[in-house]
Amino acid sequence: NGQYIWIWSRARTWYDKYGKLQRILGTHTDITALREYQSQLHHQAYFDSLTNLPNRLSLNRDLEEYIVVTGHPIAALFIDLDNFKNVNDFMSHNLGDQLLQQVSRRIEALLDEGCSLYRFGGDEFILLYRQWKSLDSLEEYAVQILESFKAPFALNDSLVYITPSIGIAVYPDHASDGDELIKHSDIAMYRSKDKGGNCCTVFDPTMIQDVSDRLKIEGRLRTALANNELTVFYQPEVAVQTNQITGFEALLRWNSPGLEEIPVQRVIEIAETTGLIVPIGRWVLEQACRFIKQVHELGYKDLSISVNVSIVQLTRSQFAQTVSQILQDVGLDAAHLRLEITESVLMESYEIIRSELEALNEIGISMALDDFGKGYSSLAYLKFLPITTLKIDKSFIDDIVKEQKDRLLTDQIIAIGEKLGLSVVAEGVEMDEQLEYLVHHRCDKYQGFIFSRPVCQEQAISLLHS
Ligand code: C2E
Ligand code: MG
Ligand code: MG
Repeated sequence: NGQYIWIWSRARTWYDKYGKLQRILGTHTDITALREYQSQLHHQAYFDSLTNLPNRLSLNRDLEEYIVVTGHPIAALFIDLDNFKNVNDFMSHNLGDQLLQQVSRRIEALLDEGCSLYRFGGDEFILLYRQWKSLDSLEEYAVQILESFKAPFALNDSLVYITPSIGIAVYPDHASDGDELIKHSDIAMYRSKDKGGNCCTVFDPTMIQDVSDRLKIEGRLRTALANNELTVFYQPEVAVQTNQITGFEALLRWNSPGLEEIPVQRVIEIAETTGLIVPIGRWVLEQACRFIKQVHELGYKDLSISVNVSIVQLTRSQFAQTVSQILQDVGLDAAHLRLEITESVLMESYEIIRSELEALNEIGISMALDDFGKGYSSLAYLKFLPITTLKIDKSFIDDIVKEQKDRLLTDQIIAIGEKLGLSVVAEGVEMDEQLEYLVHHRCDKYQGFIFSRPVCQEQAISLLHS
């Protein structure tokens, strides 16, 4: 066959996989070897060696062929694993590889007719769906994929839970060619991440503007620390019975000239995805420790400081070591520092961060479970983790006066705290009636606009004096 003759004349010599020079002599067996070699090369070029799925090059080729040749509609599902980096960073690259292989097999098992799965890169997969019926049916299909991740993955001795985020875009409704189809499914996937992951989103053209806004914020955030645009505000934490300040919570603020006010939560989330949370979080922690040290020097020796900590800090930065270094530099006793983590963080990465939390506990730092009750409340956390404080989520406090249900739940949280010897803090108290309720139900502490909004360092100190 002409093709082989051509290759034969072009490739009389080549290096085998051991680096040894091979020469073609032109016998029949050599041609067979060459054929094998050619198909091996083809496989290497078009398939991913880890998962054995077709790779990005295959995807581009298949999409181009399909769209140009048939012009038929085609859908792309962009599938990206949530917090996969944590597995790689915290467990090991080897386990990360195993996980990717198992994930590939799990998605493959769900492939319908007309579907093909590609490894796009890292923890990203693309599923092309050729004979889809409607956007609704695509969403249902995506939900099936999400469901399939409910069961854990067995990696060596441990069970790992991981969730995907999915974005859907379809040709020709959302994109004019294959490249755009992938790009737009990626944008939709990011929207799923914004919603907290483990969900799917269908592309919509307004998302393009959001992406460019996000890039702008990201760019500005990179220089925010160096440009002194960040500050820390402090909100008093108050004893319910005595109405005395018992400590403060440190809350990040970003004053960014030219950018209209961006909610702190969004800033944190962008800082998390870019990894900027590591230096920013470290800076907040140091500022907060210096602040409370100053408060102690003014004579308010019992006050403590709470600092919010993100999962990315816990998994990526030898966090316990950073904390003890800061305490040492500032000369602050660990007993005066409390770290706040949210439940959603635990749900995803309980096993991963448990040892880090225990290391922190050994240094003598206490831990609060923030926004308690809002997410997935697993009481098991309270049993296994060194938690000392529960912060009742503001959404319960909001309706505590009107809604019987919220009252009941709040009562139960207070009761759990009491039984387990945990301190219970109510978040977001704004009205007298709410505070009265907390007084009667023996909640320990509260924070909220009714006492004070988060304020700058100087104002926080004058609050203490008054
Ligand atoms: P959070 O830790 O639950 O903090 C409480 C939030 O509720 C703060 O919002 C605070 O200003 C607000 N708040 C307090 N009392 C009231 C009230 O009576 N009414 C209302 N409507 N709101 C009240 P903020 O400062 O916007 O922070 C939002 C979230 O961003 C925080 O929730 C925390 O999860 C995160 N965050 C803030 N600073 C940091 C930080 O330095 N590091 C990390 N990782 N996360 C941070
Ligand atoms: Mg907090
Ligand atoms: Mg909270």
